[in-house]
Amino acid sequence: MASEPLLVSPKSLKTILGEPRLRSSKRNTAILKDGLTTIIHSTILKNQESNEPFYVLDLGAVISLMDKWIRTLPTVRPFYAVKCNPQPAFLDTMAALGSGFDCASRVEIESVLALGVSPDRIIFANPCKSESHIKYAASVGVNLTTFDSKDEIEKIRKWHPKCALLIRIKAPDDGGARCPLGPKYGALPEEVTPLLQAAQAAQLSVTGVSFHVGSGATNSLVYKGAVEAAKLVFKKATQLGMPRMNVLNIGGGFTSGQQFEQAAPAVKAAIQTYFSDEPGLSVLAEPGRYFAESAFTLAANIIGKRVRGELREYWINDGIYGSMNCILYDHAVMKCEALACASNGSNPTCKGAKRYSSTVFGPTCDALDTVLTGYLLPELEVNDWLVFPNMGAYTAAAGSNFNGFNTASILTYLAY
Ligand SMILES: *Cc1c(COP(=O)(O)O)cnc(C)c1O
Repeated sequence: MASEPLLVSPKSLKTILGEPRLRSSKRNTAILKDGLTTIIHSTILKNQESNEPFYVLDLGAVISLMDKWIRTLPTVRPFYAVKCNPQPAFLDTMAALGSGFDCASRVEIESVLALGVSPDRIIFANPCKSESHIKYAASVGVNLTTFDSKDEIEKIRKWHPKCALLIRIKAPDDGGARCPLGPKYGALPEEVTPLLQAAQAAQLSVTGVSFHVGSGATNSLVYKGAVEAAKLVFKKATQLGMPRMNVLNIGGGFTSGQQFEQAAPAVKAAIQTYFSDEPGLSVLAEPGRYFAESAFTLAANIIGKRVRGELREYWINDGIYGSMNCILYDHAVMKCEALACASNGSNPTCKGAKRYSSTVFGPTCDALDTVLTGYLLPELEVNDWLVFPNMGAYTAAAGSNFNGFNTASILTYLAY
């Protein structure tokens, strides 16, 4: 993998949209020239008989994010983390853009292979896999995985001995991450030597090191400490007489925008500092949030209203048990804009209208199912809409079917 040119190449928009796989998976498309709100407005007008919630996936945004990644981190090959958002058209776009994929389960591997992606573009990046999933990976030729325990080594020796391994280490500092992963995954410094020796004894090939500084990392300096820790593992492997390691997997933790602007140079500098003496090194990453978050916008319909004095309370048809599970699991803070299509068609964005402190509830009968409180919104009516930006990361992916509100049935419209 080391000397291979980067697979990712910025294809033109036209080439990507011409991909037959993408064409077959799109349900509806709109040309994005007037902005997302206009697209959403016209989608609502076209589908007046249905008030179901829907997503709009901005393919142009995905292409820009890939372009940005390639220009900023040209030597770091992205393997998109499927768990973040496995929406088929989105995966297809990532495949067309040349991304690799981080899969954590048999079903995730199946969905990526179904796109025609070759198995060498997949890393099975789950440090603890069930035996049946390991057997499946062996059967389809997914030959790169991670581990952080002796029991995992034993399972891989038994079921997939040809698989190359990356030892997952615990990043020294995941402070400031929205979702730290250190409490669950990653070998501690004192565990590295025994794990490498166990892999050696099992005659398995450990080709490198991986880490994850935590999802939604806020402190970009954490990458430096993690890259330095990875370098120590490279040295340890040499001391143990193992073949030279040549893969550094820097995981995820990136958010598009300002965080990436700071994290990318920190990553580059750390690799320069600690790995410039490693010829033939290949660096990969497993970004999830970076690619998915800003690419999806959600529109939800107002299905109920109650007025209590100055307070406005609304019920919408998506919530905590659906897309907004990110409030609980991903510690997300919701933002939305009103689209008063039903009550104020001439001025649906309600420019200049008086705002009221409002509560927005989800549709299920649980009081926990509350999306926003104390949020300023114009006076809205049943059948108006709320539009939520940045809803692509850890949203629909983890929604449920509770109370009969089925997250999986929410449609996605493609815009470009
Ligand atoms: C969740 C996860 C990712 C993606 O993380 P982001 O912070 O969304 O980029 C990458 N790698 C592994 C192993 C993960 O568990």
